[in-house]
Amino acid sequence: MQRRFFLTFALALGMACLTGPTLARAQFTWKLVKFEGRDYVPLETIAQFYQLQGDLRLVDRRFSLSNQRARVEIVDGDPRQILINGVRQWCSFPVVMQGNQAYVSRFDLAKTLDPAIRPTAVPEVRPFHTIVLDAGHGGVDRGARSVTGFEKDYTLDVIRDIKKQLETAGFRVRLTREDDTFIPLEERAARANQENDAIFVSVHFNFSDGSGAVTANGLEVYAMTPRGAGSTGDAVPMLDVLKDCPGNAVDNASLVLATSVQHSLLGHITQGDRGVKRARFAVLKLCKLPAVLVEGGFLSNPNESQRINDAAWRHQLAESIVAGVQSYSRLAEQHVPPRLLADYRLEQLPTAGRMVNPDTVVPAGPATPAVLPASNEFIAQPPPNAPPPPPAAASPASGAATTTRPESSDIPLG
Ligand SMILES: [Zn+2]
Repeated sequence: MQRRFFLTFALALGMACLTGPTLARAQFTWKLVKFEGRDYVPLETIAQFYQLQGDLRLVDRRFSLSNQRARVEIVDGDPRQILINGVRQWCSFPVVMQGNQAYVSRFDLAKTLDPAIRPTAVPEVRPFHTIVLDAGHGGVDRGARSVTGFEKDYTLDVIRDIKKQLETAGFRVRLTREDDTFIPLEERAARANQENDAIFVSVHFNFSDGSGAVTANGLEVYAMTPRGAGSTGDAVPMLDVLKDCPGNAVDNASLVLATSVQHSLLGHITQGDRGVKRARFAVLKLCKLPAVLVEGGFLSNPNESQRINDAAWRHQLAESIVAGVQSYSRLAEQHVPPRLLADYRLEQLPTAGRMVNPDTVVPAGPATPAVLPASNEFIAQPPPNAPPPPPAAASPASGAATTTRPESSDIPLG
């Protein structure tokens, strides 16, 4: 039986509205509910913050809310996933459904929902010039295999193709391996960390040897698991493991990059959406840059392994990853929201008109109110050269408390 306490308190979150030349202070009241000792935010409160419209009751086993830029769907029976703009985002903690209400963990509000809904509000998304590309496996480590080939050869082919395309687009590209060589995972991350203004993209292919060996299918992109959470594959976060996992100061930027790539993959390739996931893979854990790992389909699935063996299909995969990276780059450079699944699909239907995510520039800085931090304990380290963070909010023991934060957009989101 879940114990539930209501804790309502106001956090003046530096929610500044730009009205002409003057900054006006505004407040947003976050309603918090405790489930099994963890802070949750009612969907109604989230809808108010993002000005999402729609039915706040369960209709056809689904909550569906949207504003001009984002559509958020929560499906009853899928508590670890939230569909944002048509793509699965895996939550660190299950969404709680109670009666006709849904509650999202405070942690996922800050670490999953907010960067996916408002990528323009993620301060760690910074311009970059270099892309470090990592072809999974190599040498004696052949990776997964199908009847037609080895993962290590397919990943190298895709990475070489991505390199060519990105260089043509004007980026500087570095590879963790140029040929069929074994490179330890730590060395791959160390190679990436030599770069300052860079992102890291690793490409792999999946394999399932369980009951889903033949049927498991689809595309997924991983970002580093944030501090204080279990990975997507964990049934329950293990606290002793979490102690040794400090997280990554740029994990919200990695989530935005992973989301941008997943939208592009699904917008170009008609293959199943396995979602944007979290894992502490060595390369993601050790990279200090925004880093993602793409799983481009299953070598254990006869249909998908056939496609992966097709050079034209691999070229399409490479093009999709490049488009996702370029979309993230436009966000970093020009503050243009990343392209969404619907944008890519509408490109193929030019007369249909654009429904979501117009390529308008979104103002940065104080006009963007900060979301509730993930928790009072798990505050991410500020990125290098960032100004010192404002004092942490006092932890309310019980009842109501009000905390005022400065009018600034650089509040660490935890
Ligand atoms: Zn692999």
